[in-house]
Amino acid sequence: MVRKCRNVKKFEKMIDAHCHLEQEDYKNDLKQVIENSKKEGVKAVVNCVTHPSQFERAFQLIEEFKDYVFYEAALHPEYIEEFNDEQILEILNTIKNKSKKLVGIGETGLDFYWVKDEVQRKRQIEMFSQHIELAKELNLPLTIHCRNANKQCLKILEKSDIDKIHWHMFGAEEYIKQVIDNNWLISVGPIILVSKKHRRIVEKVPLELIMLETDAPWMSPNWLLRKEKERNEPKTIKIVAEKIAEIKEIEFEDVWKTCGKNAKKFFSLPVSL
Ligand SMILES: [Zn+2]
Repeated sequence: MVRKCRNVKKFEKMIDAHCHLEQEDYKNDLKQVIENSKKEGVKAVVNCVTHPSQFERAFQLIEEFKDYVFYEAALHPEYIEEFNDEQILEILNTIKNKSKKLVGIGETGLDFYWVKDEVQRKRQIEMFSQHIELAKELNLPLTIHCRNANKQCLKILEKSDIDKIHWHMFGAEEYIKQVIDNNWLISVGPIILVSKKHRRIVEKVPLELIMLETDAPWMSPNWLLRKEKERNEPKTIKIVAEKIAEIKEIEFEDVWKTCGKNAKKFFSLPVSL
């Protein structure tokens, strides 16, 4: 059973550490979506833009919702086949030129689930290294997307010499120890409502290494639980926080406060909690 929180207003410590508000899904009512998330106690969101066609939109958002929407950028590994090597360099350069407003580089990593071709997988590895170098150069944290390539990702990251690493929707249960030993953070989203594996991960990873995420517009609780077509929004991190409290048998306040503080510190967000 999910324990219901009593007084959201009182705490207001939640930060959605990973969502995609530049998506078309929010074209008509983003203001309302932001209002809804504020009402539910979400103090800030980290928007993650991963395709160059959406960079400009993401940039507008941080101006429009100043000090509430922050952003990180990368070229998602899933899109590797769309771009040649020269174009990738240009994209990385664009990110670099906008770096003043960036709070992180991501999501970057490896996706061997969608990309099966060996040549393209090799190019993903190369592009991942380029993103790591960029994060180092700009002294920014790194957000990882990794699917069906955990071993390879881990090897690259352990050699990367980057302190601040965040695994978005971390599902590599067999590598929990390495994540904890390296002091990396994971972000937990609505997937814990349906995935036993992700719940076991939450059980084992200390709260000090956990942030809350929605991955909105994807991963809405209703879609996960009932396959109902529904757009996700940052406000659903409240449901995630409730579930983490239940799994870890702790108070909501502890989840919000600690996960919020973790996100503020990790992305160096200028918000007061
Ligand atoms: Zn994402």
